[in-house]
Amino acid sequence: MVDQEDTIFHKIIKKEIPSKMIYEDEDVYAFKDINPCAPFHCLVIPKNMQGLSSLSKANESHLDILGKLMLAVSKIAAQEKLEKGFRTVINTGEEGGQTVDYIHIHIIAGRNLSWPPG
Ligand code: 5GP
Repeated sequence: MVDQEDTIFHKIIKKEIPSKMIYEDEDVYAFKDINPCAPFHCLVIPKNMQGLSSLSKANESHLDILGKLMLAVSKIAAQEKLEKGFRTVINTGEEGGQTVDYIHIHIIAGRNLSWPPG
């Protein structure tokens, strides 16, 4: 997978294309997925992707941002009252189903989710 610096999520962070904000702090932005697969479906991304085009690029320098992304998931779950449960997904690479080369965590909720995934 080739690193891209101009993905659709770079454009969303730069507000060059619109998105429906769910949560924002200094380091993290979360917005509604344009093609939701459940009643609640958002994407959580770092404002600065720091070379993390996918989780497979992670190293020790990314510990801080990876922790912040996970903490943001927990805050969003509380904010959105997802007390019945939710699923977090990080699709990685071609066979992992990743289509945007900018690390992102899916939060999916609002219906019974089957396991294993397809
Ligand atoms: P992936 O398949 O890489 O794990 O997830 C990419 C996600 O980005 C998909 O669920 C897709 O619906 C979402 N997506 C793609 N383009 C846009 C866009 O322009 N706006 C928003 N909000 N979501 C997008």
